[in-house]
Amino acid sequence: MGQGPSCGERFENGLFRAVQNGDLELVDAMVRTDPTVLEQTTPRMKMSALHIAAAYGQIEILSMLLERCVNPDVLNCNKQTPLMLATMNGKISCVQRLIEAGANILMFDSLNRRTCLHYAAYYGHSDCLEAIISAAHSDPVAATWGFLRYVNIRDGGGATPLHIAARRRQPRCAQILLANGALVCALTCGYGYPGSSPLHLAARSGSLECVRELLAGGAERLQVDAAGRIPYTVAMKRKNRACAALLNPSAAEPLVWPSKLKFINELNQEAKALLERALVEANMEREKAILQQISCSPPSPLQSDVELDDAESEGCNVELCCICFEHVCTLEVHPCGHQMCAPCTLALCCYKKPNISSNSPTAPLCPFCRGSITQLLVAKIKVTDNAESEISSSKQRRSRKSNFSEGSSSFKSLSALGSLGKIGAQSTGRFSVECDGEVDKSF
Ligand SMILES: [Zn+2]
Ligand SMILES: [Zn+2]
Repeated sequence: MGQGPSCGERFENGLFRAVQNGDLELVDAMVRTDPTVLEQTTPRMKMSALHIAAAYGQIEILSMLLERCVNPDVLNCNKQTPLMLATMNGKISCVQRLIEAGANILMFDSLNRRTCLHYAAYYGHSDCLEAIISAAHSDPVAATWGFLRYVNIRDGGGATPLHIAARRRQPRCAQILLANGALVCALTCGYGYPGSSPLHLAARSGSLECVRELLAGGAERLQVDAAGRIPYTVAMKRKNRACAALLNPSAAEPLVWPSKLKFINELNQEAKALLERALVEANMEREKAILQQISCSPPSPLQSDVELDDAESEGCNVELCCICFEHVCTLEVHPCGHQMCAPCTLALCCYKKPNISSNSPTAPLCPFCRGSITQLLVAKIKVTDNAESEISSSKQRRSRKSNFSEGSSSFKSLSALGSLGKIGAQSTGRFSVECDGEVDKSF
């Protein structure tokens, strides 16, 4: 990126040093005495006072300069804008203020032809990334370029912000980009490596968390790069064993967020959070099983292992999900009103990988009544008075009732899956639920 954070230049000049130090009074006095000082630039990089205020996060001076109608998109010798410098240094308040002042998010530098969105992904400043993405919704850019085109904007090497986040080990940025429509399987055209997908770059950088985000976002383990290699080969070559284990095409498939379903896209925040957590937990379990199989399993981020249902098992009087008998019913299907836990709901909605390419997947049906699902809402937790002793111990609870007699065949087959949350732990564990809710028992 040419230069590291801050702006890589020492200032002899009094104005620039005052801006860098955040001395508002002094800067103000200098500008009042001679307004033309604002036209000065630094000798080497051609930085303006606005660039320096942005790079050092001097929000008061930045605001003062913008109020004096300084052009928010003034360029330095690398055609970098103040917005790029603020983003590079993670100065979120300056990023927000510049955007408010109308800074253009679609400017390209002359180093690698990158935008501020690339900078945010490169340095991993997810708050700045979010601010820029939200500006892209309303900015004239959305009208002229289109929002999705902006999120997938390529730099001089053909890398999208998602490629850069994967290569630079920035999982949070990758997650935000994926949630905003970044193309998970796009190939670079250049970027130092023969046309690679984000998954190839994550495999190369050895970022387990990026690999995890990309797989959950629908990345293809069998996609080849321009040299004909799958991400697994790249990870092996770089000796990134943990990544390779997850990328091995013979390892269990991850659950993929079912973004193509209408009611999934219309989830409210609370329901979405429940399902997202269920997805992360199911994939964590799967990863744990896979990584245990490799000889030197690394001390991995998996140590954040969430006890699957600790929080839920505390209150033993609550009604358990009638499919898995493991978790509390947290989601309610509308319009029929049947309730399930988040892992079972997710399992119902996720598709087998081969189906994911179909553009119009059939929506799943309620496993209890076969009615169509128009909406998923957070269920009000029911508390029963006659709590059975069997559910008071989380260990005993594992031996589930099997004499549940109501329900359709699909209900029974879902039930036969046992705990869907633990499905990844099956060593042969190909996890598959057909889109109509029927279960493929072949795993
Ligand atoms: Zn369940
Ligand atoms: Zn129903």
